[in-house]
Formats: sequence, C-alpha cells, structure tokens
Amino acid sequence: MPIAPPSQIQHRITNIQYPFDNTFDDVWEYEKSFSSINFESYLGDQCPLCGRSGCYKQISEYYRNAITLFPHKKDVVPVARFLCHKSGRTFSLLPYQLIPYHQYTIDAIIGTLLAVYHFQSLGQQGYHGASLDLDPDCLVTPYLVHTWAILIITGLIRGHAVLQGAYPVSSADKATSSTMIRAIYLYLEAVVSQRRCVLPAVRRFCHRTNGFLFGVSSGDRSRAP
Ligand SMILES: [Zn+2]
Repeated sequence: MPIAPPSQIQHRITNIQYPFDNTFDDVWEYEKSFSSINFESYLGDQCPLCGRSGCYKQISEYYRNAITLFPHKKDVVPVARFLCHKSGRTFSLLPYQLIPYHQYTIDAIIGTLLAVYHFQSLGQQGYHGASLDLDPDCLVTPYLVHTWAILIITGLIRGHAVLQGAYPVSSADKATSSTMIRAIYLYLEAVVSQRRCVLPAVRRFCHRTNGFLFGVSSGDRSRAP
C-alpha cells in the first residue's frame, strides 16, 4: 500500500479540543502570559487521548481569532497543542473564556444578550437595539446576536444537569425569540448571584465534564451520529 503524502496524513489527524481552566481575567491576559504557562503541569502525566503515562508532547501552538466587545478588541490568541504518540492524533487546550468555532468571547456574547433583554424589557426590539448599541466597528448584526441566543440557550439546556440548582430552562427550547432571551436572563440570574457573569458556571461545567458548556468541540463533532 503506498504511503500517503503528508498533506493527506495531516487531513486524517483529528484535533480534539479540551477546555483550559485558568484564572486569567480575560483572553488578553491569557495571551500575554501564554509563553509562561506550564500546560504539562496542568494536564498531568497521563495522556488525555490514550490514557498512557508520558505519551503526549507539546507541539507548536496554533492561532485563532478572539473578539471582545466590552471594550471592542479583535486579535489572535495562541492555543496550546499536543501530540498523542500512541494514536498520532493531536489535542489542544482552548481557554474556557472562548467557545469552540466562535470568535466572540463568552463575555462578549453574554453582555450583548443581556443588552437584548434590557431593550426588550423597555418594549423595544432587543436584537436590533443591542447590535446598534455596540461599537460600529464590530459589525455585529441582529441576526448574529440571535444565533448567539440559540447557542447560549442550547448550552444551558444541555448543561442543566450539571448546573442544576439554577433556573429550570427545560421548557425554553420551545420558547419564542423574546422569551428565549428572558429564559437566558433568568437562568443567568440564578446561576450567578451578583455579577451576572456566566463564567463561574462555565468553569463548573468544565471541571465536572472536561467539556465545553457552549458550542460543540471537534471531539463532540466526531462523536456525533
Ligand atoms: Zn496518548
């Protein structure tokens, strides 16, 4: 059997994403400190892909976009990557402030959805109002904000068993566009007592499951039917 050229070998390698729990204030702090982070100490000796001791090694990082909105900033951030020697597959550690395959940070998305709730509670068109309220350079459309609402409510419903004790959103999947925002708002109020910040819930989910509360990682995608 002929040996596949490197480009085809590369294509077959699946990069599995895991969340990287950290104490940085935001992705920019993470980005600044990246070179001094000891990822091997974070991961431990055991390879997360095959379970063998001393199997994986850190390889060159890749870069992806990150966008915050409060204030608006767009830049690339490095993502640590590793190779499992046994399987030949790679895995990476995505800081938990980011969502797989989404450029906007969780804080940016949640902050915008809370603005939607604010405008809706004033009887205005929430998605439109929230997108107009952002820095014009952001180019965030009402449609994009609506997709974020679906992304967040989907994650909250999926993660509810882990986050339980908070607001029951199990019926929210049937919610209309405006009540969907209300369900998200009430859930966030319940999950987060003071700062209305969802990140502690995201970390809780990450600790319990080693997965992402919001979005679908490459590992989840490959497991999907
Ligand atoms: Zn391995």
